Amino acid sequence: MAVLVMVLLAAPAAAESADVVIVGAGGAGLAAAIEAADQGVSVVVLEKMPMVGGNTLYATGGMNAAGTSSQEALGIEDSPAVHYEDTIQGGNDLNVPELVEIMTSQAPAAVEWLKGLGADLDDVGRLGGSSVNRTHRPTGGQAVGPHLVQVMFEAAQDRGVEFRLESQAVEILRNEDGAAYGVVVDNRDGTYTITAKAIVVTTGGFGANPTMFVEYDPELEGFGTTNAPSATGDGIAMLTEVGAQLIHMDQIQTHPTVHPGRSTMITEAVRGNGAIMVSRDGTRFVDEMGTRDVVSTAILEQEGQSAYLLFDDSIRASLAAIENYRRQGIVTEADTLEALASELGIDASTLTAAVEQYNASAAEGVDEAFGRSDLPRSLTEAPFFAVEVGPAVHHTMGGVVINGDTEVQGSEGSIPGLFAAGELTGGVHGGNRLGGNALADIVVFGRIAGQHAAQF
Ligand SMILES: Cc1cc2nc3c(=O)[nH]c(=O)nc-3n(C[C@H](O)[C@H](O)[C@H](O)COP(=O)(O)OP(=O)(O)OC[C@H]3O[C@@H](n4cnc5c(N)ncnc54)[C@H](O)[C@@H]3O)c2cc1C
Repeated sequence: MAVLVMVLLAAPAAAESADVVIVGAGGAGLAAAIEAADQGVSVVVLEKMPMVGGNTLYATGGMNAAGTSSQEALGIEDSPAVHYEDTIQGGNDLNVPELVEIMTSQAPAAVEWLKGLGADLDDVGRLGGSSVNRTHRPTGGQAVGPHLVQVMFEAAQDRGVEFRLESQAVEILRNEDGAAYGVVVDNRDGTYTITAKAIVVTTGGFGANPTMFVEYDPELEGFGTTNAPSATGDGIAMLTEVGAQLIHMDQIQTHPTVHPGRSTMITEAVRGNGAIMVSRDGTRFVDEMGTRDVVSTAILEQEGQSAYLLFDDSIRASLAAIENYRRQGIVTEADTLEALASELGIDASTLTAAVEQYNASAAEGVDEAFGRSDLPRSLTEAPFFAVEVGPAVHHTMGGVVINGDTEVQGSEGSIPGLFAAGELTGGVHGGNRLGGNALADIVVFGRIAGQHAAQF
């Protein structure tokens, strides 16, 4: 109580309160806000940026879930058990099994919940490391993140959730009994304290904080990032200050296909829909659908530490996201493979032979050269396209330790009143996150956090 009185006296602006305060209005925070509001409690969401969405707004490829109505409509057989196995294998067996079990078993319900809120998740494709088509996105392959943010933001507003933009949380407050009871907030007018019965921290990862990612993995010195500027690890720092345990902080994923000049991430769905990768000598060098760590390493071994992502017009037509890359002027286009090779400064006969060999593999359904298991189409329809790509920091798998109820774990167990969900937590993805699994993670655990915080 003494701490509380001291803080209230120090605050220049009025202290306020809500039943549940959520810090961070990305996908995890929005899911938590909706669930908490549905339980009839008052909810305030603090967001440091002038808009909601965070990294979730950047998500393009889709959301993984196994056993959904969208898959059923397309005749795709899948199960949470297979999703679980793919996730553990893709995470190099470092994942926390209990969290993976929760994510994979609850992801289908999360997809149906989003559809119930009005989301379109009817297009189902595949991203690297998945053995089945289970990556859900809007019809026509539209970017998934902006769509989900809009749907969830509107649903939260409909439920009376109060959003405070340009309001940066700078400190979590705990009372003498160790329970979290408030958040110190910086906004344009100064600093104030908001108290709450429960606090949910959903501030995202630290992929846009080079000082922090280099501290945990010095080999990332000089790397660019695909992340939104907001992903600076604030929540991890604040929760560490109040005794939260951390896990897997050195497990930082690079995404293999980022345009080096523009830092534009080319969604894995381009490869998922059939694109191949060639080096400057015009040959393939890796199973393009391998996990991100493997493909990133393979690219860094090529001349110039980058490669070309190559696709034809049928792939362009299959994915609306590609038009965005063309508008940015980062896609080289030509009517023939020979002309494309000439534009890229690659030997034309080597490139043509590589594509012909790949097309033969796709026709047979067996890629003897690199063991690619997913060969959706041959590359035959002109015009042909290429984008230069290389790895950049993409996902921070480590973060604060939570239990299955999203309670933040300190050295003596759960910290009362304190919940966390989304990319600032660690353990779900182990040593490598599969494409599409982050959205499953943030929606599943965001919902759990909202429910448990409201009940607390
Ligand atoms: C380019 C790109 C493409 C991606 N594509 C996919 C994909 O197709 N599929 C997939 O599954 N995953 C994808 N991901 C990963 C996925 O988008 C993220 O892991 C996920 O969106 C993180 O959600 P979050 O809610 O935890 O954090 P965020 O969405 O980052 O939200 C955190 C919010 O907290 C706010 N915040 C931070 N600090 C504070 C503070 N101190 N006070 C108040 N507010 C604060 C931020 O401003 C932000 O709005 C992609 C990521 C990137 C960068």
